[in-house]
Amino acid sequence: MHSFFIPMPLASDAAKERTLMTHNVKKVRFFRRHIPQFACIPGCHDCCGPVMASPEEMSRLPEKSEAEHAEALANWNCPHLADNGCTVYDERPLVCRLFGTTARLLCPHGRHPEMMIDPELEKRIEGFFRQTRRVLV
Ligand code: SF4
Ligand code: SF4
Repeated sequence: MHSFFIPMPLASDAAKERTLMTHNVKKVRFFRRHIPQFACIPGCHDCCGPVMASPEEMSRLPEKSEAEHAEALANWNCPHLADNGCTVYDERPLVCRLFGTTARLLCPHGRHPEMMIDPELEKRIEGFFRQTRRVLV
């Protein structure tokens, strides 16, 4: 008599992946809430360019074709940037939100929030960047 053993690592891997995703979604939400905000120069997008984001952030962005990605990259740009600025502003990745809030990413026009980002929070965000598989937006 044959006995068949059907291994189930995929199911448990998928479950782990889902748990990690939920955990990371919560982290992204937390970081978004706590990164200080400030008013940019209206219409300015001088800090936009090719940026990386986690799968959790990517899942909230509209998909872009390979051609759109290639064109943006050839111009050292972001595929979500249009004539009137960022087309995904409310869902823009963490790195876009960090710009201007830390000495590492200073706004070239001197814009900044009243208080720069808490260094501890910045460290946590950097840790998140290191731990997640980030892809080009
Ligand atoms: S942070 Fe500075 S460079 Fe970036 S959009 Fe705002 S004003 Fe422009
Ligand atoms: S996602 Fe928006 S804010 Fe970020 S680089 Fe692209 S266009 Fe700029």
